[in-house]
Amino acid sequence: MSKTHNRQIYPFSAIVGQDIMKTALILNAINPSIGGVLIKGERGTAKSTAVRSLAALLPENKVVLGCTFGCDPEKPEDFCEECRKNLINLRTAERKMTVVELPVSATEDMVVGSLDISSAIKEGEKKFEPGILAAAHRNILYVDEVNLLNDHIVDLLLDVAAMGLNIIEREGVSYTHPSSFILVGTMNPEEGDLRPQLLDRFGLCAVIEGIADADTRLEIIKRRMDFENDPKGFTAKWAAADKKIADKILAAKDLLPDVVIPDDMLRIAVQICTDAGVDGHRGDITLVKTAKTLCAYKLRTEVTEDDIKEAAKLVLAHRMRKTPFSNEQYDDKKIDESIEKAKNHNKSEQKENDSETQQKETQNGPQDNAGEQKQGSGSGSDSSETKLFKASDPFA
Ligand SMILES: [Zn+2]
Repeated sequence: MSKTHNRQIYPFSAIVGQDIMKTALILNAINPSIGGVLIKGERGTAKSTAVRSLAALLPENKVVLGCTFGCDPEKPEDFCEECRKNLINLRTAERKMTVVELPVSATEDMVVGSLDISSAIKEGEKKFEPGILAAAHRNILYVDEVNLLNDHIVDLLLDVAAMGLNIIEREGVSYTHPSSFILVGTMNPEEGDLRPQLLDRFGLCAVIEGIADADTRLEIIKRRMDFENDPKGFTAKWAAADKKIADKILAAKDLLPDVVIPDDMLRIAVQICTDAGVDGHRGDITLVKTAKTLCAYKLRTEVTEDDIKEAAKLVLAHRMRKTPFSNEQYDDKKIDESIEKAKNHNKSEQKENDSETQQKETQNGPQDNAGEQKQGSGSGSDSSETKLFKASDPFA
């Protein structure tokens, strides 16, 4: 459960390349409901640096002063038991987001915390010793080599991540506290895979490779040496670039509720997931959420084809159906084919609508255009443009 204090952290914007990983992390910072990210890559690909750097550039959160879990004063509905009891005397403080690490050797008690049953029975008072999930609330939970973690712990972790609550039950005594975090797992694919049903529970997956290009490698080493020689000076040099990213994240958070996805774009998203053989609806929903978040990060409010394409890369990498002959491979060409298919469908639907309207017009005669006979609503050609999905659930 090591937290980083005062140690100089490598600036996020100074990380060379690995854009897909950086984007995946940023999207989760804007919209944690995307469900975390699994970073797949060899050792030494700056995975842990990127996570710590991102946490360092994010603005401070408002917390309830003295609360073990760092409850959000603006969300009383998510309060822990103690904050609920002290509703009147709440004072607030600012807290920097931290990266809470979950070691591969962690036991269940270390993760969920422990309840002192005897004091609960004898004195009627629940004594709870907080675990890693308590420290992770409103922070980043980082699990290095998640594929080596005990299956039972992974299940537990993903359940809590989905609910935002940690519920501990021991011999009829139970204790609940909020635990909502950005889950970041890393794995080296050479050391074994995660079960497919667990893979699917990570919102995004960023597959990263070591950088082969000699010039880029040179740049990485140069920056690393500059940082090590003068961490403060180096950080100062990149501060403005980091601030720009932080400001964009904040702006995107504000904008996200206003982002809409038109019907024809929604069809593209569904077609991509269907063609990729993604089971269930989690993939579809995550794709739409991710495209919307990307759209907000680009400071726009209507999802485009490019947003969906870019999101698909992160959403499908770990969800493609595996067959004995094809290994899960994300394929740009296949995505383009799906987009074409959906577009043709949209076009033919449009034509049908147009000819329906024409038919009605010829039946009713042009004099009826004033519109007494409005059959249904929006059966005209403008329906696909006007039917927009608001960012409200289930996709926000
Ligand atoms: Zn609290």
